[in-house]
Amino acid sequence: MKLLSKSLSSCCHAPQMIVQSRQGGFISQDCEKCGKPSFISENELPDLICKKCKCKLIVGKNYRKNYIYTCPGCKSEFFVWDLVPNWQKYFDENGLGLFSDCYDDGRRKF
Ligand SMILES: [Zn+2]
Ligand SMILES: [Zn+2]
Repeated sequence: MKLLSKSLSSCCHAPQMIVQSRQGGFISQDCEKCGKPSFISENELPDLICKKCKCKLIVGKNYRKNYIYTCPGCKSEFFVWDLVPNWQKYFDENGLGLFSDCYDDGRRKF
């Protein structure tokens, strides 16, 4: 699903989409205009409502320091990384990846 950060990008003052940036739960916020990725902090994650019980989800981190949403009503947990698309789907041309995430020929490992 598409999630937008609460803050605008510092480069273009455009909305920022939250995307999977690396395997293993690391997410970033990418400028919708130019694709520039930046770190996202807890208070920039959007407010979401639990579909089951309509409670406002609480942002937190799991034991691996990855962001999760927790429902105070039914105790459901949502791993933010699972919710958002991979950055490549939207930022194929301008997106930045870590070199170590790629094979020698430039293809990404995941
Ligand atoms: Zn930008
Ligand atoms: Zn719930």
